[in-house]
Amino acid sequence: MDIEQIFKNNRSWVQKKLNLDAQYFENLSKGQNPEILYIGCSDSRVTAEELMGVDPGDAFVHRNIANMVPNTDLSAMSVIDYAVKHLEVKLIVVCGHYYCGGVKAAMQPADLGLLNPWLRNIRDVYRIHEKELNAIENEEERYKRLVELNVQEQCINVIKTAAVQKASKVREIAVHGWVFDIHSGKLIDLNIDFDSILKEIKEIYRLG
Ligand SMILES: [Zn+2]
Repeated sequence: MDIEQIFKNNRSWVQKKLNLDAQYFENLSKGQNPEILYIGCSDSRVTAEELMGVDPGDAFVHRNIANMVPNTDLSAMSVIDYAVKHLEVKLIVVCGHYYCGGVKAAMQPADLGLLNPWLRNIRDVYRIHEKELNAIENEEERYKRLVELNVQEQCINVIKTAAVQKASKVREIAVHGWVFDIHSGKLIDLNIDFDSILKEIKEIYRLG
C-alpha cells in the first residue's frame, strides 16, 4: 500500500460518508460522547471499531502491545482517567486476542531490549497463575489461556485505578474482559467474576 493510495482512499471515504449524510463531519466536529473505553492490542489484525461494528465517535480507544494496563504507565492511566472522569464512559473493555505476538514473546526467555520491562508485566501474569498454566500440557492451549489471564489481570489493574473506584461509587460503570479469536473472527466475553477474584484482597486495594 502506498501513501498516495491512502489519501485516495480517504477522499472516497469522505465522499461515501457525505453521500449518506451531508452533515456527517459537521456533526462529528461538535464533540465526542463515547460510552465505551476499549483497551486493545496494537496488532494490525485486531481493529477496534471494525470488530465491534461501531462508528467514529462510539468508542474511546487505547492500544498498545498486548493490551496492557501497567499501573505506572502514564499513557494508559491518562486514557482511563480522561475516559472515566470527563467522557463518563459506562463500559471499559480490555480486549486481548489469541495468537498475540506480545504474549508469545513473553513466554520465551529472550532478551528483547526495550521490550523487556513491558513484557515483564506479562511474565508477572504467568507467575501469578503459574500452577494453572503449567498444568496445561498443550503449548497452544497454554498460550491461549495466558492471553485470557492477561486480560483478566489488566482488567483488575483498571478496577484498581482511583478514577474507576471513585466513579463506581456514584454511577454505573462496568469492566469487561474480552478476547478476539482471530481464527473465527468472533469476540468472546470471558465473563470474569471480579467480585469473587478480588474478595480476598479487597481491603488491600480498598475496593468498594
Ligand atoms: Zn497482540
